[in-house]
Amino acid sequence: MGRLDGKVAFVTGASRGIGRAIALACAREGADVAGTYHPSEAKPDAILHEIEAFSRHALLLPLDVADEGPVAGAVDAILARFGRIDVLVTNAGYGEETPVEAMTAAQWDRMIAVHLRGTFLCVRHVLPGMLERRSGTIVTMASQLAYLGAPGLAHYAAAKGGIVSFTRSLAREVSRRGVRVNGIAPGPIQTGFLPSTPEEDRALADRLPIGRLGTPDEVAPTAVFLASDDASYYVGQILGPNGGDVMP
Ligand code: NDP
Repeated sequence: MGRLDGKVAFVTGASRGIGRAIALACAREGADVAGTYHPSEAKPDAILHEIEAFSRHALLLPLDVADEGPVAGAVDAILARFGRIDVLVTNAGYGEETPVEAMTAAQWDRMIAVHLRGTFLCVRHVLPGMLERRSGTIVTMASQLAYLGAPGLAHYAAAKGGIVSFTRSLAREVSRRGVRVNGIAPGPIQTGFLPSTPEEDRALADRLPIGRLGTPDEVAPTAVFLASDDASYYVGQILGPNGGDVMP
C-alpha cells in the first residue's frame, strides 16, 4: 500500500529535475499525477509514460505559473479530469545569477513573479476545493538560500524567503480547516537549474558536511512525506534536505 494511495497530486514544474522526481515518487506511492511544464518547452511525454508505468493516471499541462488565467485554467482542467486535488506541490522555478548592481527591474519582477506570485496563484486556485472538502496538503518549494542568502542570487533568495513566510502564514490560516501546509528548502541539488563547471560543483560539495551535492531523488521523499498522513502533525515546517549546509 502506497502512502498516497488514491490521492490526486498536482506538481508544478514536473518536466525535469526535482519536480519530475516528486511527480514520479507521488505516482510510486499510489497517486494520480497532474504535472506542468513551461509552455516554451516541448511536451515531456516520457513523464506521462513513466507515471503510467506505476499504473497511475497522468495529465501534463503547459503552464507559466506567473499567469493567473492559465493557472486557473490548469486547475479547472485537473478538476475536470480527476475531480479533486489532494496534494499540491508548488515546485516550478528557475535560477539566474546577476549581481544586484546589474539587475534590471524586469529580472527582479520575473523572479518574484515565477516563484512567489506563482506559488500564491497555484495555492489561490487549489485551496478553495481543499477547504470545501476540509482535506488537502500543500508543499511549497523554498531553498536554503532563503536563510543563507547568496551573492548573485539576491532576487532568487528574496523570492524563496517570501515563500517561507507565505508557507508559515498559510499554515496558520488554514490548518484548522483540514489543510496542512509545509515547505521544503533543499540545499544544492544536481539539476540543470544553474549552469556550473565541475570545479564549481566540487567547491560547493566541499563546503557541505556531507561532502557532495544532492540528487532530485533525495528531495522527492521529503515531498511525499509532507504530503502524506505520516506528516499529520507537521504544520508550517520547512524541511531541509541540504547535506547539512543549514542546521536550524
Ligand atoms: P529545473 O530547472 O531542473 O526544473 C525547473 C522546472 O520548473 C521545470 O519543470 C521547468 O519547466 C519549470 N518552470 C520553470 N519556470 C517555470 C514557469 N515560469 N512556469 C512553470 N514552470 C516553470 O530546476 P530544479 O528541479 O533544480 O528546481 C525545482 C525547484 O526547486 C525550483 O523551485 C528551485 O528554485 C528549487 N530548488 C532547487 C535547488 C537546486 O539546487 N537545484 C535548490 C533549492 C531549491 P520546463 O522544463 O518546461 O522549462
